[in-house]
Amino acid sequence: MRPINVTRSAMPPFAEYCEEIRELWDSRWLTNMGVKHERLREELADYLDAPYMDILTNGHLSLELSLQALELEGEVITTPFTFASTTQAIVRSGLTPVFCDVDPLTLTMDPAKIEPLITERTCALVPVHVYGNFCEVEAIDRIAQRHGLRVLYDAAHAFGARYKGRGAGAFGDVSCFSFHATKVFHTLEGGGACFQDEAFGQRLARLKNFGLENPERVTDLGGNAKLDEFRAAMGLCNLRHVAEELEKRSRVEERYRERLEDVPGVRLKVLQPEVQSNHAYFPVLFDEKRFGADRNRVQKALREQGVMARKYFYPLTNAFPCFQGRFHPEETPEALRASRQVLCLPLYGDLPLETVDEICGLVLNCRK
Ligand SMILES: *Cc1c(COP(=O)(O)O)cnc(C)c1O
Repeated sequence: MRPINVTRSAMPPFAEYCEEIRELWDSRWLTNMGVKHERLREELADYLDAPYMDILTNGHLSLELSLQALELEGEVITTPFTFASTTQAIVRSGLTPVFCDVDPLTLTMDPAKIEPLITERTCALVPVHVYGNFCEVEAIDRIAQRHGLRVLYDAAHAFGARYKGRGAGAFGDVSCFSFHATKVFHTLEGGGACFQDEAFGQRLARLKNFGLENPERVTDLGGNAKLDEFRAAMGLCNLRHVAEELEKRSRVEERYRERLEDVPGVRLKVLQPEVQSNHAYFPVLFDEKRFGADRNRVQKALREQGVMARKYFYPLTNAFPCFQGRFHPEETPEALRASRQVLCLPLYGDLPLETVDEICGLVLNCRK
């Protein structure tokens, strides 16, 4: 089957989804926090180990409105090794991103490099659990406590991953998730925020619904970021199958590891102690000198055979032209190096193990 994309959306059985949406034909309650929305919200909070949770129309607006609901002002320390959304949410919320370099192994924000970046204008940390690798949550928490900073995790990659047995919704002041079609768990488009403080939740709930406190009183400058009932229904179905999806993904990842782990010049996703992986991505870093080919050459060779590996993440967000030269990728050298070496190979539950073997063969053939 070609092309083989970097991921393929998991789908529930068609009949299961039809059954899930049947009652919507009678109720005609199609959006605005209906029964599906409320049920999904509760089930997800439970799955992610969140004290409180809300669900929204996508991951990006979950980030953007959460930053607004935290009522921040000034500078936010974050990582450039992420999807466009993280940095754009910060800038669009009127905040100034300050870029911290990443740890070369986990590619998450390096806690040792945070404190030198703190100024009196710093108000929050926005780290990213890249590929489902957990950030050093305890160290980050200590720094935040010491300096009175809020912590908002971009947890879009961490759905289903666990640290010390706890889901990714348990950490920081807020953790934002994406339920986009390309993610481990999806609602077609969708997202959510897990949080510790009930008052934050009330602000977020208003912001996603035009700032309405009640139909006659508008207290916040909000917008529309509601998740409709049909997408919530898709979430309810997919959540029933997510354990099975993670199990299938783990077998795919294991096969990649068997084939690639001892190859010189190839570095695979780290296995972190006390972390249960969600097998969301399979990043490989190619050291051109030792491997004998650079990342771009591997991507091209795969593409020629219909295998669509992706450069997550390249370029760094601090190199984006939309920021008009305000930021400089050279200031985060570890992130810059990783962005030039990384390639995410296809990984999803239904990927046949023979195809994994074939992809690994194509990768190894790139060596001079
Ligand atoms: C997918 C993703 C987002 C954005 O989520 P959407 O649901 O697509 O809006 C944000 N951050 C990261 C790291 C992501 O992977």
